[in-house]
Amino acid sequence: MAKIKGPAFCPNCGFEGTPKKMTPGSIGVEIVLWLFLIVPGLIYSVWRVSNKKNVCPNCGNENLMPLSAKQGYLNLHQKNT
Ligand SMILES: [Zn+2]
Repeated sequence: MAKIKGPAFCPNCGFEGTPKKMTPGSIGVEIVLWLFLIVPGLIYSVWRVSNKKNVCPNCGNENLMPLSAKQGYLNLHQKNT
């Protein structure tokens, strides 16, 4: 999935605006790994940061598209209505 910069459009619920940054994994696991095992803690932190996703703040959909692509999407899906 491509990373989106700027405003995004959610085809699931129609949300338009700034996507929410979601960091995968858990901060608790990260702290425990850092406390006991420095190297896995570092790897886990890097994994979490590098896997940040843009999600819809409204419905949690991960498949957002740039707002600039919204009109094309709507044209494609409203052709027969
Ligand atoms: Zn949504």
